Amino acid sequence: MSWITIVWSINVGACLTLATMYLAVWCRERQSFVHLLFSCIAASAALIAAYELQLIRADTPEAYGAILRWRPLSTWVLVLSLVAFTRLYLRAGRSWMALSACGLQTLTVIVNFVFTPNLYYGEITAVRQIPWGGETASIPLGTPSPWSLLNQATLLLLLAFFVDATITVWRRGDRERALIVGGTTTFFGAIVAAQFALVILGIIEVPFFASFAYLGIVVALGYQLCNDAVRAADLASELQVGEERFRRVVEAAPSAMIMVNHEGQITLANLQAEKTFGYSREELLGRPIEMLVPERLRSGYRDFRHDYLCHPQARPMGAEQELFGQRKDGSEVPVEIGLSPIHTSNGPLVLASIVDITQRKLAELEAARQHHDLAHLARVSTVGELSNSLAHELTHPITAILSNAQAAQRFLAHDDVDLDEVRDILNDIVTQDQRAGEVIHRLRLLLRKGEPQAQCDDVDLNEVIRDVVKLMRSDLINRNVTVDTDLAQNLPAVTGDRVQLQQVLLNLMVNGCEAMADHYSSECRLLIASQLQNGAVRVSVTDRGGGIPEKNMEQVFERFFTTKKEGMGLGLSVCRTIIDAHRGKIWATNNVGSGATFHFRLPFVGVGKRQ
Ligand code: ADP
Repeated sequence: MSWITIVWSINVGACLTLATMYLAVWCRERQSFVHLLFSCIAASAALIAAYELQLIRADTPEAYGAILRWRPLSTWVLVLSLVAFTRLYLRAGRSWMALSACGLQTLTVIVNFVFTPNLYYGEITAVRQIPWGGETASIPLGTPSPWSLLNQATLLLLLAFFVDATITVWRRGDRERALIVGGTTTFFGAIVAAQFALVILGIIEVPFFASFAYLGIVVALGYQLCNDAVRAADLASELQVGEERFRRVVEAAPSAMIMVNHEGQITLANLQAEKTFGYSREELLGRPIEMLVPERLRSGYRDFRHDYLCHPQARPMGAEQELFGQRKDGSEVPVEIGLSPIHTSNGPLVLASIVDITQRKLAELEAARQHHDLAHLARVSTVGELSNSLAHELTHPITAILSNAQAAQRFLAHDDVDLDEVRDILNDIVTQDQRAGEVIHRLRLLLRKGEPQAQCDDVDLNEVIRDVVKLMRSDLINRNVTVDTDLAQNLPAVTGDRVQLQQVLLNLMVNGCEAMADHYSSECRLLIASQLQNGAVRVSVTDRGGGIPEKNMEQVFERFFTTKKEGMGLGLSVCRTIIDAHRGKIWATNNVGSGATFHFRLPFVGVGKRQ
């Protein structure tokens, strides 16, 4: 059998096989137009090879002309498919070049059918049999048509398009595709262009064999597509392994992990999620995440979910807010939630890590209760220190009431009762009683234990200062301490617990008095000042005692630190706890002359609410 027939038939067979294979692939994946285009390229290459075999065997000029006339039709399909393939697969190549090349190729086909015998020859005068590889092959003799230049121009434009696309892909860093797809197409395209020019102009005498250049292109493209398929399969199995690993990690996580899709449906839940919420996994999967949110919070949660999907980023949910989940039995569970967005081809997913903080909340409550008890204890102890003076403060009005009452009795024993006199006495009794009542009221407030959760009122710190100064009035007189105040006008209110803030001030004043007594200060004076400073209200208590040794400056706030014989070392530590809870700061400094100053500052209402 003739080797020419065998080789060209193999060419046709190979191209057809590839065309059929990738057509089948496209049938399975209809969106994958790259495979359909490749199938068209391979099919048209097969047709070109079949035409070439016929041309080699043609024995009359008429037969040769007729076969050559139909050939451009398959070239047209091949060029259009190749250009579309390059644009789609490489995402490269200038569109104006692509459109111009396709337009010129279409024009070539039209011109080919307008002129006889075809686009390439004005006339084919004879067909010559030349010896070729031990066999004979037909080549045409005749005058080349000037229109064949149109074909050459198309081929050159196509080459420019492929070179441009190859350079773009190379620069993008995808060198493999640039070389295999872009490079091969350009190389074999150049061979086709050269062969056409040389054969038609009669410079070389060989039959057309451009179909092998097309075969080269088909093989290169097929190889690259096959490579892609293998890589995709590898990636899929890697993904599968990765997904399996991810599932295992999620399953083993100590916190509840729940994955939600963009529609808010649960797509994954781990064992801990089952334990936290009391639902089985089957009950959770595919259901809306809202089922785990308490009814009262659901509408707000929906808005949050929508906002989060618009700005997805890994972050804790509801910063500074208390979050709750809802168990299957309807009970609520305090939780902390961390969110991480996961981008997938099926849309964004959100992975929520949910920690049940019931135990922590209980511990916090217990700690708050202990703090509260301790603060109360310290308050009672401080007030205890004032007991003598307070007793005196109460004795005075009570004695006055008694003597007034006795005087009234005496007046009433006479017949001519001077009612005006009695009225004055009664007024005096009322005033003295109110004075005693005020002292008792202030004391009761201070000694009251109240609830562990601090009261959150708007508190005027100037008022707190005046109240405490009044409460300590007798004590200050006993200790021979003069109090000066320098209070800022129109001080904004702070948010907090009035009694606790009184306790802080009381403690600082008592400490100041004791420091001056211990130091035998010649002049015992306390200065209490309030001022507005850097967005906070600042209160300072300045004494003329011995000051604080520098090494103890921080230590004085530690629990049980005391330098006093009968001190408990609780006062300042409780002060710091109270001020911290009010989101404030307390500190001490030594004065330039003598003594120390204790300062505390609190954010005022509007600057930030206390938690
Ligand atoms: P206590 O009064 O029972 O010792 P505090 O916590 O109120 O407990 O005070 C701790 C220590 O801080 C005191 O023992 C004292 O040494 C020091 N301190 C407190 N206030 C002053 C002050 N105004 N001047 C100097 N030292 C002070």
